[in-house]
Amino acid sequence: MDHIQQTINEIFHKHLSNREGSPATYIPELAKARPEHFSIVVTTVNGEVFSVGDSEIYFSMQSTSKPFTYGMVLQDLGRVFVMSKVGVEPTGEAFNSIVELEKNTHRPYNPMINSGAIAISSFIRGQSFEDRLTNMKDFFSLFLGRSIGVDENIFESEKNTAHRNRSIAHLLKHFGIIEGKIEDALDLYFKQCSFSLNSLDMSLMAATLANSGINPKTKIRSINKEYVGDILSLMFTCGMYDTSGKWAYSVGIPAKSGVSGAIFGVIPGVMGIAVYSPSINEHGHSVRGVKVFQDLSKELNLSIFRK
Ligand code: GLU
Repeated sequence: MDHIQQTINEIFHKHLSNREGSPATYIPELAKARPEHFSIVVTTVNGEVFSVGDSEIYFSMQSTSKPFTYGMVLQDLGRVFVMSKVGVEPTGEAFNSIVELEKNTHRPYNPMINSGAIAISSFIRGQSFEDRLTNMKDFFSLFLGRSIGVDENIFESEKNTAHRNRSIAHLLKHFGIIEGKIEDALDLYFKQCSFSLNSLDMSLMAATLANSGINPKTKIRSINKEYVGDILSLMFTCGMYDTSGKWAYSVGIPAKSGVSGAIFGVIPGVMGIAVYSPSINEHGHSVRGVKVFQDLSKELNLSIFRK
């Protein structure tokens, strides 16, 4: 296991001086992130933690939240309903594409792109908006092993500038995909994107998925085992948006990125990995994050295709 610590140290130092990309600016609050921040954390299914860099710096989950909300709604409402509303096909389109509804059904192609994720948020159960938010927070908190909080500055910043996501939501409502109020669905989506954590937390969430849904630290089941495979297969085919094919080829593990600069990956039965570095590329992925995962995959022989 010293090998893991040594490997992440080496990869961290190899990419430390990389200054390519820049923090996202289309959500103004994200532009305040500090490009020098960088961390790599591995948590095994036994709960061992290996970390290097700024692993206690907080950031917002952004799209790394999508796999979890998808799992929550699948568990609450079942596959038949969810599948009738959101598909499981990759698009080859960017995360915020507004032309990503299937021709006949008008379903979003998958839950990892914004249209699918906004639809998924609209299905979260509860009597009121507050109830639904509490249910979502409680679900995420199981993976975190403590209460998750919302970064309200990020939330407000995204809500006030989300013209594109708002237009996607209107389209979804028009086609009868979204249930309930458009603004509630969007606010729940913005709240999940604004969940605030650090890379130690994120690697534990990833390790919980690697451990078939049982949190390796608290030993509490966070999600039924039967839905973990649904989440991971969608992360694998769609989690890295229009670079998912390249990711499968060069990294070969299920992963999800967020525009805050986080990427997490899951090696089922083995470990969860989180990398944070806020400078992103044109696809919305952390520049250092992609390079770290490529190196880690080689050094630790992680690709499921290259055993
Ligand atoms: N909140 C972001 C958006 O909806 C998430 C995008 C991402 O992280 O890829 O634009």
